[in-house]
Amino acid sequence: MHRTRKVVVAGAGALGLTSALALARAGCDVSVLDPAAWGENASGVAAGMLAPAFEAALDPLSRPHFALLRDARDLWTSLAREIGLEIDRTPALAVGDDAWLAGLRAAFAAIGAPLADTAAGVQSPDDWRIEANYALDALRAAAQAHGVRFMRGKAARTQDTDFLVIATGAAHELATLAPELNRLQPIKGHILHYPGGLDTVIRTADAYAAPSARGRLVGASMETGRDDLDVDPTQVAILHAAAQRLFRDVADLEPQVRVGVRAGAPDGLPLVGPAATPGVLIAAGARRNGWLLAPLVARMIAAYAMGDDPGPHAATLHPKRFEAATGIA
Ligand SMILES: Cc1cc2nc3c(=O)[nH]c(=O)nc-3n(C[C@H](O)[C@H](O)[C@H](O)COP(=O)(O)OP(=O)(O)OC[C@H]3O[C@@H](n4cnc5c(N)ncnc54)[C@H](O)[C@@H]3O)c2cc1C
Repeated sequence: MHRTRKVVVAGAGALGLTSALALARAGCDVSVLDPAAWGENASGVAAGMLAPAFEAALDPLSRPHFALLRDARDLWTSLAREIGLEIDRTPALAVGDDAWLAGLRAAFAAIGAPLADTAAGVQSPDDWRIEANYALDALRAAAQAHGVRFMRGKAARTQDTDFLVIATGAAHELATLAPELNRLQPIKGHILHYPGGLDTVIRTADAYAAPSARGRLVGASMETGRDDLDVDPTQVAILHAAAQRLFRDVADLEPQVRVGVRAGAPDGLPLVGPAATPGVLIAAGARRNGWLLAPLVARMIAAYAMGDDPGPHAATLHPKRFEAATGIA
């Protein structure tokens, strides 16, 4: 039998929390450290779409990874059941002009995902949604029920820890332990919330709208290289114009603006696995799909910590994959 492994998880976002829960479930003694207020991170700002199909169809970096994204989505069924979180499986709708919809149909055909024609537009049954803030709370409660301790503060490597899991999103502070983090670039994102309800996620050529507990949300900007949380009136105006094309009633409404910073690697996929320093694991850089990917990342992190097989996506997500001739198995 294994001795209980002590693990510190740095970061209480989607990747840190799901990893903490998976590690505790695997029998580890887990503490989560984060200096920020609860939910004050990209995970708390996110739209919560679990969208393998539209992400692969619309985002060139995600295009080759539909199977991986769908595998991650599939893991949400059991995770949501375990933590008592509702998944909204209402099919996501895309609306736009004929040329754009034709391109979308071709993209869906290329990735092998179904797309249904409806009177309102085209619909994907593959994309789901969660409420991001509810997910944070549910993950924390489930982790605590498994004995995970939560502390406010920054993580550093301590001598009596078997593993440090770096799930610090766009922060590079722990790059001395994990120089692989230097591959990640910050990508700032604005998102707008308007009062009112919405039944389904709507995709257009330049924006998306989604239901949320705060009302209808419209997102999101992708501002590569920016890691500040300042509200940029230009980005707000662009999104507000997109919102008006979708909803007639929002023209005179003052949206509530939220800003988050994602982290992205050159290939758009997260860094998951061992860092240069022994005993340090990275779970960071999930770009615009951190909620979608979280259960897959968590499962892999727990496998690495327990010395188990991290599964079929290990090489694709390995933190050293950008180094030439690494000989990663
Ligand atoms: C506007 C917007 C919309 C999005 N919509 C979606 C969506 O619909 N679907 C989806 O799947 N993804 C979406 N994303 C992306 C998703 O939010 C991110 O990929 C995901 O939240 C990243 O989670 P994380 O845990 O890696 O990082 P974060 O949520 O950023 O958490 C990192 C945590 O680490 C902490 N930290 C930093 N330094 C330290 C340290 N030294 N020690 C300890 N802790 C530290 C921070 O305080 C922070 O709480 C969206 C992002 C944005 C900005």
